[in-house]
Amino acid sequence: MIFHIVTIFPEFFAGPFQYGVVGKAIEAGLLTVRIHNLRDWTFDRHKTVDDRPFGGGEGMVMKPEPLFLAVESILPERDREKQAVVLMSASGRLFEQAQARCLSQLSEVVLICGRYEGVDERVATLLCDAELSIGDYVLSGGELAAAVVVDSVARLLPGVLGNEASTVQESFSAGILDCPHWTRPAEFRGVKVPEVLLNGHHEQIRKWRHAAALEKTARMRPDLLPGEPSAK
Ligand code: SAH
Repeated sequence: MIFHIVTIFPEFFAGPFQYGVVGKAIEAGLLTVRIHNLRDWTFDRHKTVDDRPFGGGEGMVMKPEPLFLAVESILPERDREKQAVVLMSASGRLFEQAQARCLSQLSEVVLICGRYEGVDERVATLLCDAELSIGDYVLSGGELAAAVVVDSVARLLPGVLGNEASTVQESFSAGILDCPHWTRPAEFRGVKVPEVLLNGHHEQIRKWRHAAALEKTARMRPDLLPGEPSAK
């Protein structure tokens, strides 16, 4: 799978994809991340990517022309079955595990990183297939959000996680949170690991883990449980 990231800060991505699961996926050739400098698609002396907002107000808005040229040159023959162009946006749809799974089925995804006050609306309406927010807070740019998307999708690609780690029991996969995990020592600072985890009885452990995951979900994220007033 190929991710293309369109940004005015290409150097930002020197770090995030070098480590751990994502770094290994790139090394193994299962994932490619190409960073594109948006200013390569500007033609004035100052390589301008932003302009003043129509209607007045604070800050600057990213111009549509360089973003359209960038995407049209990165994906010259757009195939909406296998490719997607995504705008990172605080006002987009909330990015959740389900979207990560959808993106992991595609062969090529372009992530557009906004800056300033945001991006000319025609980028969202004419150029992009989706507008995604990584959470209900405002970042100063789309770069961190894009790195979050790449990381969460990379670990879902076939072959990226070894057999020892499965994405099936993780948080959100079954609609609830993961169960709590424990390792040695069996007692630490007066707190003992739940007895059932030490007895080697797989069926009992499976049931305990499911109940513990439900308990934690009810405590941390009641909105995920059906029947809750705030459930989605
Ligand atoms: N004026 C906008 C915020 C712009 S922040 C608003 O109030 O909604 C600048 C850029 O950061 C955005 O264009 C977007 O690309 C990125 N960004 C900010 N918050 C984000 C979030 N929660 N998820 C994804 N991208 C975000």
